[in-house]
Amino acid sequence: MVYDYLIIGAGIAGLNAARLIPEDKKVLVVCKKTPWECNTFWAQGGVVRARNIEDVPLHVKDTLEAGVYLNDPEAVKTLSEHSIEAIDDLIDHGFEFDRNAKGELAYTKEAAHSTSRILHADGDATGRILHMFLLQQCPHEVVVDSIVIDLLYEDGICYGAHMIANGKDKVVYAHNTIIASGGVGSIYRYHTNSTTIAGDIQGICVEKGIALKDMEMMQFHPTVFIESNNARKQLLTEALRGEGAIIEDEDGYPFLKDYHKDAELAPRDVVSRAIFDYHRKTGSKIYLSFKTFDKKIFQKRFPNIYKDLKEIGYDLPFERVPISPAFHYSMGGIEVDLNSKVKGTKNLYAIGEAACTGVHGANRLASNSLLEGLVFSKIAVDHSMLENFKIVKQNYGLKDEIPHYELLKKGDKAIKNALRTLMWRSVGIVRVRQDLIDALEEIDGFLKEDVGRLLYLRLLTARAIIQSAIERKESVGAHFLKQK
Ligand SMILES: Cc1cc2nc3c(=O)[nH]c(=O)nc-3n(C[C@H](O)[C@H](O)[C@H](O)COP(=O)(O)OP(=O)(O)OC[C@H]3O[C@@H](n4cnc5c(N)ncnc54)[C@H](O)[C@@H]3O)c2cc1C
Repeated sequence: MVYDYLIIGAGIAGLNAARLIPEDKKVLVVCKKTPWECNTFWAQGGVVRARNIEDVPLHVKDTLEAGVYLNDPEAVKTLSEHSIEAIDDLIDHGFEFDRNAKGELAYTKEAAHSTSRILHADGDATGRILHMFLLQQCPHEVVVDSIVIDLLYEDGICYGAHMIANGKDKVVYAHNTIIASGGVGSIYRYHTNSTTIAGDIQGICVEKGIALKDMEMMQFHPTVFIESNNARKQLLTEALRGEGAIIEDEDGYPFLKDYHKDAELAPRDVVSRAIFDYHRKTGSKIYLSFKTFDKKIFQKRFPNIYKDLKEIGYDLPFERVPISPAFHYSMGGIEVDLNSKVKGTKNLYAIGEAACTGVHGANRLASNSLLEGLVFSKIAVDHSMLENFKIVKQNYGLKDEIPHYELLKKGDKAIKNALRTLMWRSVGIVRVRQDLIDALEEIDGFLKEDVGRLLYLRLLTARAIIQSAIERKESVGAHFLKQK
């Protein structure tokens, strides 16, 4: 059977695309593990909606400023202009954002936004509630435990994908393939991402010669509780600082004002680097303090953070929490045009965090990524319907045999850990040119080892990140170079 659509990934981008594809189309959505093992599920802060059409130029300006004007201005305009209809469409289909006492949408503000334009659901559980809603609205088949390990791709045309589903090889042919597989979190030692997010498909793109863009632009979230044993570290949302939480040293000194005029509300990369620098200079532990909050208001506004931290032993808002920056978001990705089509290919789209639409430039403005997933998934679906590009037939005769891969091999664990440490140390918040060059050499060494398919793809993605970081000679946005 040939599907009309194969969607790789069941986060906000993949599920929203699926929701918008008519029921009479044959659609297969696949994801690793369970559907809720994705970054969307963990998003806390919220999603941007331009307040009204007059707010669009200001939202565009804020996004461009955060991205240090490395963004694609057309993509940013598209994002902002479509934000109103994208959010209103969810509301019209029954999604409930939090509202104030008057029953109006409760907008909040986050760092580097010049006005309150962020909507949230169940306080700090926006991603989880959105994800559940999109799953419920999905009229198509969602298949779990399916790891895509290759694209069926020849001469610039995508015919579907090769995956391991429930441990068995499976080949899925499709007229349209939509990559919605998210970012790269698991290649870093400390990260906030779901464990399913490891840049596999970006690695496949490297192998196939499909262009990636802005891969050096990695965002590090400044306020993460990393003192736990879990691979995914607990994030403390930006909205906390937006609403009064303070970053301070061991002695309670709020040092961010010494780094940026906007102190707690400075852009993420500025705050991450300030914490990194202050800790390096003083050796002090860094804390997030909630002393400006009333307990009842805090519990109502941030119920999940309150509960999660309580379980670990912190009584918020009375106790402060030790924090560190950690890898959070990949601004770069698979290069797409304004229709979300993967550049230079046919039948292939990329949406959400996996894609580089150019909306984020050198740094992402808070809460723009859920929005990007919503807006560009619709654009991809609309465009694919117009193109109606049907060239795939089953057994259409790919020239190459579909190879068999071993997913994991014996020595993978040690190399995977070494890779994660290397990325954190040499390709992290502050980068030194020679360290990047050395890291590339180390990755090339790993690539010569007998590794499993998944690790091989991660290594290719890591290589692409480092290569882009080496090519970018100046510090800009999230890419910060230090002279040794
Ligand atoms: C802790 C946290 C908090 C955040 N808070 C916010 C916020 O408040 N506002 C905001 O705008 N953004 C936030 N973000 C960012 C935002 O959540 C993500 O950028 C966004 O959810 C990405 O959506 P996506 O659909 O592109 O990918 P994801 O939601 O990550 O989904 C990726 C999907 O791809 C699947 N997949 C991956 N690889 C494969 C493969 N090889 N084969 C098959 N399937 C595969 C996964 O299983 C998963 O289903 C946050 C991120 C994190 C981690």
